Amino acid sequence: MRNKSRAITPPENCTGCGLCANVCTHDAIRMAWNRDGFLVPEVNTNTCINCGACVIACPAQPKHLEKLRHSNTDVQPIMSAGGWNHAQETLARSSSGGIFTALAEYIFKLGGCVFGVVWDNKDTAVYTKAENMEDLDAMRGSKYVQAIPGFAYRQVKDELKKGRQVLFCGTSCQVYALKRYLKKEYENLLLVDILCHGVPSRHLLQSYIRAYEKQQKNEITVLQFRDKAGDWQKYRIKKFFKNGTSISHCNWEDMFMRLFIGDYVLNTACYSCPHAKLPRVGDISLGDFWGNLQKRHSDWPIAQGIASILGNTEKGCTILQKLQNNKTISLNEVPFNELYEGQPYTYYRDGSVAVPPARKLLLNQLKTKPLGLMYDQLFNQVRFGPFRFKRQGMLHLILKKVKSLVLLFTCRKTQ
Ligand SMILES: Cc1cc2nc3c(=O)[nH]c(=O)nc-3n(C[C@H](O)[C@H](O)[C@H](O)COP(=O)(O)OP(=O)(O)OC[C@H]3O[C@@H](n4cnc5c(N)ncnc54)[C@H](O)[C@@H]3O)c2cc1C
Ligand code: SF4
Ligand code: SF4
Ligand code: SF4
Repeated sequence: MRNKSRAITPPENCTGCGLCANVCTHDAIRMAWNRDGFLVPEVNTNTCINCGACVIACPAQPKHLEKLRHSNTDVQPIMSAGGWNHAQETLARSSSGGIFTALAEYIFKLGGCVFGVVWDNKDTAVYTKAENMEDLDAMRGSKYVQAIPGFAYRQVKDELKKGRQVLFCGTSCQVYALKRYLKKEYENLLLVDILCHGVPSRHLLQSYIRAYEKQQKNEITVLQFRDKAGDWQKYRIKKFFKNGTSISHCNWEDMFMRLFIGDYVLNTACYSCPHAKLPRVGDISLGDFWGNLQKRHSDWPIAQGIASILGNTEKGCTILQKLQNNKTISLNEVPFNELYEGQPYTYYRDGSVAVPPARKLLLNQLKTKPLGLMYDQLFNQVRFGPFRFKRQGMLHLILKKVKSLVLLFTCRKTQ
């Protein structure tokens, strides 16, 4: 069998959505990790019949992208709101407002199924189907790595054709790929796109896991990226080890999160994501309600997690309204600008997010250098034991002085 990383679209455009693999009737495409740690299609040239279906379907074809980028953005969502799930346990275990779980529960009650992302192992996230609340448990919580779509789009279509209600939740590029796969609207399909500023290289995740396994001399079993630990705005990244212990770090001092949120090693396509604009691709869009909520909405349960919610279609708005009416969720309408102000580049990306000059070097270093060393060099830091100080910062200079005095003193004593 000959596998080739054939360019169905220019590689820098590929989002790894996996639509090409789903449309190929000869199953000649499988998604594989490229050398930078991003998903790309690999074509088996023995089974490919050169029909061109994958190229026609690909949403990242230059011509199609051009059309997407220049489509009308002068629209407002039908409804924009801040909200949260009333079930305390669900809210605690969800990344932001737990609205995804409320929607899933609604679909299960109608006899439907839910497609979303679970951990396959500690560094791999995959799409799967949930039939009940027990299956859904593993879907909760963000996995900050590209999720392998597998043949999820085909499975969704099969379920829709049986007449079942289906909820599909994923990043906008994946939701868009599903829509292109289906080619027509289905009344029994609810599409939820999650706000997304990008996906980081899988090598970042693997290097992060290696760093903590080495430090703790133990194997990581699972990562929880959004441990609210009593304060959603100060969420922590928790690492669970085989020996039953765990450690966590606050997001702004966590090596993974700082590199991820700082956009250092995202997939190239994410820097100019064609879906980061209005109208959004899903019936509903879900994200975090970042911004100064203490000032505007101090009566909301901010510490537990607030979702930013966009109702983009009548179908989406009707379901959200039903969940509000039966007291499953709180839905508080706010002007879209309030949501936008909290994270403008997640809502609009008109080519304004630059690829960091260090990206290429960092992607190479992720494979060879310990993450801690790379991180300290990037952020100009030095370590003293478990502490980190800004190189040439006041504390660092004082410590340097103390160190040289100690050295001088010990030298004199030994003379
Ligand atoms: C890669 C990534 C980047 C994100 N960036 C932002 C951002 O910049 N701003 C923002 O406001 N929100 C962002 N989010 C979304 C946010 O973290 C929450 O997922 C969202 O607010 C829904 O939260 P919830 O509490 O309703 O549900 P939760 O239960 O926490 O949501 C889980 C849902 O997310 C899906 N999911 C988890 N991991 C992935 C993945 N890797 N790929 C596709 N789907 C996944 C699950 O299938 C499930 O449907 C991002 C999420 C991901 C996965
Ligand atoms: S963007 Fe999607 S459809 Fe196009 S090549 Fe990449 S994975 Fe395949
Ligand atoms: S050209 Fe046709 S057969 Fe070959 S990989 Fe693409 S869809 Fe499959
Ligand atoms: S930023 Fe855009 S292209 Fe990148 S993962 Fe998110 S939706 Fe997909």
